[in-house]
Amino acid sequence: MIIRPERPITDWLPLTLKEVEKRGWDEVDVVLVSGDAYVDHPTFGTAVIGRIIESEGFRVAIIAQPNWKDDLRDFKKYGKPKYFFGVTAGCMDSMVNHYTANRRLRSNDSYTPGGEAGFRPDYATTVYTKILKELYPDVPVLIGGIEASLRRVTHYDYWKDELMPSILVDSEADLLVYGMGEQPLREILKLVKQGVPLGSIKNVNQIAYLHDATEEIPNDKNWNTVELSSHEVCLQDKIKYAANFKIVEVESNKTQANRIVQKVGDKTLVLNPPFRIMNEQEIDASFDLPYTRLPHPKYKKRGTIPAYEMIKFSINMHRGCFGGCSFCTISAHQGKFIASRSETSIMKEVEEIVKHPEYKGYISDLGGPSANMYRMKGKDESICDRCQSPSCIHPVICSNLDTSHKPLTKIYQQVDAHPEVKKAFVGSGVRYDLLVDDFNKNNKDGNHDEYMEQLVTRHVSGRLKVAPEHTSDDTLRVMRKPSFKYFKKFKEKYDNIQDKHNLKQPLVPYFISSHPGCEEADMANLAAETKDLGFQLEQVQDFTPTPMTVAEVIYYSGVHPYTLQPIITAKTKEEKLNQNNYFFWYKPEFKDWIRKRLHKLNRPDLAERLLKSQKQAAIDKVLGEDLVSKTQKKKNNFRR
Ligand code: SF4
Repeated sequence: MIIRPERPITDWLPLTLKEVEKRGWDEVDVVLVSGDAYVDHPTFGTAVIGRIIESEGFRVAIIAQPNWKDDLRDFKKYGKPKYFFGVTAGCMDSMVNHYTANRRLRSNDSYTPGGEAGFRPDYATTVYTKILKELYPDVPVLIGGIEASLRRVTHYDYWKDELMPSILVDSEADLLVYGMGEQPLREILKLVKQGVPLGSIKNVNQIAYLHDATEEIPNDKNWNTVELSSHEVCLQDKIKYAANFKIVEVESNKTQANRIVQKVGDKTLVLNPPFRIMNEQEIDASFDLPYTRLPHPKYKKRGTIPAYEMIKFSINMHRGCFGGCSFCTISAHQGKFIASRSETSIMKEVEEIVKHPEYKGYISDLGGPSANMYRMKGKDESICDRCQSPSCIHPVICSNLDTSHKPLTKIYQQVDAHPEVKKAFVGSGVRYDLLVDDFNKNNKDGNHDEYMEQLVTRHVSGRLKVAPEHTSDDTLRVMRKPSFKYFKKFKEKYDNIQDKHNLKQPLVPYFISSHPGCEEADMANLAAETKDLGFQLEQVQDFTPTPMTVAEVIYYSGVHPYTLQPIITAKTKEEKLNQNNYFFWYKPEFKDWIRKRLHKLNRPDLAERLLKSQKQAAIDKVLGEDLVSKTQKKKNNFRR
């Protein structure tokens, strides 16, 4: 049984009318509608947005996972808010949350009590907003969160298999906040407080809205404007759609970005440039809001919330990721610049965690989107101000990027030394390439070695997850990932440290099948290469084209958005399944299929390599080495 601390209900933001009344409010200023259950923790978007609104002096209440199929009483429970409704699908895009890569309906939902599925509609942002507009046509609606953010311009929807316009068109929301919402939201709240209606807000950074196409868009002397091909042109021309993506990605990752406009029907979509990355004080302020760090007590009888169980003892130390991987949405949402929390704020969170009634001495993650990017930034930030690159480490590590791991090592050591912490693990994925000397030359003072030693000896929870994602260099280039040879170098370094300390913590590599640029033989090769390294893969993933990623654009358009050159992609269910099957070469039920398939593909060599037993492979290896050494001896004798 879970024992929760007895806290007054008013420690949470109100989730029921009773709680609103308990606070003595006769009305609510802002109502947030969310597709997730309400967990009052800085990892959950609705809690963050709710706490910010509260901190600006507004009365805010939450409607979590409302029933959208009945008489809509959930939507009506607080009546009309004074200022606006805020709508989010939750921490994930509702379609990614609901369906597998093969478009099969999932049977569970990590953001719902008991992990139950079915508590949020498909395209939740649009469904909720339409209902609210129907019920309260005169109340403005602000949309945000990952679903709204990544669907802010014309995008391909894998589940409908068609291009969709900005989510503002379908949802009919008044305003959209993209990316991490704190900064635009605070500005919006200031204006709302001054009496500016939400629908008239046009000059705040990081918002999007629709404007009458016959009228001039509002002028702003600080921004230049770039125009994308219209939604209608994209529907006719896939290449124009692909070219649009490059503009959106580049502008989303600049410190001084342009405003973007796109015609859609009789409207102009306007996307204002993003805010500069939060400074330490600003990001600390967001994490230091008075979260209870607990799910709302209303869920007590409905079972645990899996996403909360996963993070309740973890600490997110920074935001953003400069990797720019083709399949990932982090940089489209959080950007490539890293916003890092202060040591004080992180240690304050450790103090909070150790007080948790279920805490047993273990912190499950000291991490971030990528575990080891804490405090990393340009050595000369004025160079970054002129930079257009979507990644700081692909195809090579930028010479201006400071990749020192010293600040991160110091935090690990500080947390490790806390008397209440038995172990603090690193659960987030480590960017291993940053730690390989051949790839990253910034290890002159040994800071990477010091970090690795600290990581491997103190912070690995049985196994270390890393994500080479593929073994084929051609596919890796499309993925914006480094060559597989660097993974092998990393493994060597990792194994050496393990041997030195007599540790046995396996490395768990993650791979993706069916990514654009990956052909079936590449997958067979991947299986053979990883088999030779002694891995039996468990952590495998079939590629899902999620909106606003390079890989999604390639999947739909057939070309790379930067070169506009064609790239092959496995698209049918059968092609995707075929690629995925190779991961399981070690299972008897796949052996026959693999043999036949590789003979058909004219690659009996790969079939032989994959299907011979590991014992036989080891014998062959020894015999091979023996043969090489005998030949070498003969050559040497001959020379003598
Ligand atoms: S200049 Fe280098 S470090 Fe700075 S943003 Fe560009 S790639 Fe990243």
